[in-house]
Amino acid sequence: MRREWLLPLGAALLAALLADVLGRAAGWGALGPGDGRTRRVALTFDDGPSERTPALLAVLARQGAPATFFITAPAAARWPDHLRALREAGHGLEAHGRWHTHALRLPPWREWAQVRWHPRAAEPGPHLYRPPYGGHSPFTRLLARLARRQVALWDVEGRDWTPASAADLAARTLARVRPGSVLLLHDGPAVTPELLEALLPGLRERGLTPVLLRDLPPHRIGWREGLRRVGTSYGG
Ligand SMILES: [Zn+2]
Repeated sequence: MRREWLLPLGAALLAALLADVLGRAAGWGALGPGDGRTRRVALTFDDGPSERTPALLAVLARQGAPATFFITAPAAARWPDHLRALREAGHGLEAHGRWHTHALRLPPWREWAQVRWHPRAAEPGPHLYRPPYGGHSPFTRLLARLARRQVALWDVEGRDWTPASAADLAARTLARVRPGSVLLLHDGPAVTPELLEALLPGLRERGLTPVLLRDLPPHRIGWREGLRRVGTSYGG
């Protein structure tokens, strides 16, 4: 190869690498919020089932709200009764990984197992997959496509892993929610049932109805929204 090619080639490779890293951070092409013209939102809970599942189920039942739970394989094995209760209550069950490990810490063959595991693998799709921490490796999109999983992210974080009070978290979440939003909450933190209790009437006051994520339905994240995600997301 002639020398004068090296600089443009290096620049092109660097640009491709940066675009890949930025694209993965932005979530471009993954499923994000739904259409802003409908008055629907989707509540999603990551990391369960857990000891907190019955409390979340009680609040959801009392307030008549459906939700979508992104389950991990170890949690499903540990809390089979809670998983059954979620299913029987009609909530959505989707995958949050064979392990709760960031994609960048898994070699590709383990990430394949990570992406492929699903609590409803034997049932007809669509099957959604939310990577732990929203983290993508360079292989995540390809592996998800091969495994027929759709990567599903979010646009509003409930931040229930921080030490703030339920009332503060609810107020901050409601300030950011809009029609079509996908809210990220967790099945595990002690604060989340109380946060949910405050969140649901707030959504109703704004004329927003919680639906299952698949009924939102979520749309693919475009470049503008992706850039906004880079600035505001902390990962779940
Ligand atoms: Zn998680």
